[in-house]
Amino acid sequence: MEKDFHREFTKCPQCGSERKFLEELGKELKERGLAREEWNMHLDVKEGHVVDQLKEAAIPIGSEVPGFGIITDICMDCGCIYAGVLERRDAKKGLPPARNIPPGKSQKGRPIINPFSNS
Ligand SMILES: [Zn+2]
Repeated sequence: MEKDFHREFTKCPQCGSERKFLEELGKELKERGLAREEWNMHLDVKEGHVVDQLKEAAIPIGSEVPGFGIITDICMDCGCIYAGVLERRDAKKGLPPARNIPPGKSQKGRPIINPFSNS
């Protein structure tokens, strides 16, 4: 796959409609002044990278791993959920952030720390 892979889909692959549910909802919210003009509404925005945890420690700090960005919405005419944007977003492995675990606390509730950033 190309490192700068980026594709946008503006029409429903099922019926060809361009009306997207969340996008239309967002327009209405903006018209009524209930959402910021620069916001884009989507069903879901996912980004990340897939790394085998057994191999993660072997990845040198500063090296890039392939990552993904996916934006989806729902067709207003047939209900099909489809990707509006598919893109590759490589991420650099950074230093893991320092962790402060208060004494006596289990590690169970601590947030999952992502050692990768997209900068
Ligand atoms: Zn459709």
